[in-house]
Amino acid sequence: MDKTLASGARKCWFDSSRAHNNMINLEKLQKALSDQKPYRLKQAYKALFKDLISDWDEATVFPIELRERLNKECPLDIKTGEVLEDKDTIKAKIILNDNLAIETVLMANTRGRNTVCVSSQVGCPMGCLFCATGRMGFKRNLSFSEIINQIIFFARMGKDVDNIVFMGMGEPFLNYDEVIKAMRMINDKEGFNIGIRHISVSTIGIPEMIERFSRENMQVNLAISLHAPNDKLRTYLMPTNVGLEKLFESIDLYIQNTKRKVMFEYLLIDGVNDDKECAQELANLMKKPLYFLNLIEYNPTGTKFKPSSEKNKKIFKDVLIENKIQFTERYRFGQNIKAACGQLIVK
Ligand code: SAH
Ligand code: SF4
Repeated sequence: MDKTLASGARKCWFDSSRAHNNMINLEKLQKALSDQKPYRLKQAYKALFKDLISDWDEATVFPIELRERLNKECPLDIKTGEVLEDKDTIKAKIILNDNLAIETVLMANTRGRNTVCVSSQVGCPMGCLFCATGRMGFKRNLSFSEIINQIIFFARMGKDVDNIVFMGMGEPFLNYDEVIKAMRMINDKEGFNIGIRHISVSTIGIPEMIERFSRENMQVNLAISLHAPNDKLRTYLMPTNVGLEKLFESIDLYIQNTKRKVMFEYLLIDGVNDDKECAQELANLMKKPLYFLNLIEYNPTGTKFKPSSEKNKKIFKDVLIENKIQFTERYRFGQNIKAACGQLIVK
């Protein structure tokens, strides 16, 4: 399965000008068309995002010379490694131009369409103890183009994608500009045309970035990975914790500026953050309008941590219910192929 090209066999077996062109480079495409009339870029985007072409020869609106030049300067292969399929999930390893790899996941959603969980960095510098990506360390940020390729890859498989979550590898708010650029392209009518409310971003919680995000005037859903109800425990699990007071100040400012709800994610880890006291502390934190809580089942990823027992979960949830805190529980996507967001690791 390794070293397969998502777009299938190509005419040339070897073309040195295509070396290290493992994926579509949208920056290069913009450059290549900068000497053309502006409508050419629009046509190129339509060909890429709607017609899902995998060779510029298929873009018949373009003159032949332009197609040839684009095939040289901006080829459309997406090189993948392992692609694992389960009944409702596909996990793909995508090989970047510098031969680093990222993982991206497609999950069937309740609307009968699909959600793509995209990566924003190769690895992650935040080092959360429970997270497979965190334990990989940090390699580099992804460009907006590398983010968009993850969606094109699944669209080319014939998947109808109507929801995007920035919950794959990496901390999106440490790669803010490229992530915002990718969000705009995902939402753009000439891009993927996916409704802005169908885009979500999950962050460990970087106050300056949350404040900046609150001024973007974008209706993207915001999720905060909380995972602990006090600083002692949060700093143990997430060593880059900035302190809950500062974090919640920025969240309240976000709500004040946007009037949008915020989803708090709380992993239930056996014997670590799942006792009655933690539940009560969490309930106290969650008593604000537009705060929503999502309890997440911990997926073991070779760490010392285990998912909470059914008994502990029940006790935990009872405390929340007594405190009239509404919560949801995240469905365990891709459990069989180890594809759930947050447990992505490139071996
Ligand atoms: N860096 C961002 C987004 C990527 S992680 C963030 O932390 O929010 C996406 C979500 O998966 C986060 O809530 C993360 O805490 C969670 N996660 C990490 N490891 C996990 C695991 N082993 N099982 C379940 N969820 C996990
Ligand atoms: Fe990074 Fe998020 Fe994993 Fe923490 S949970 S290490 S912030 S990817």
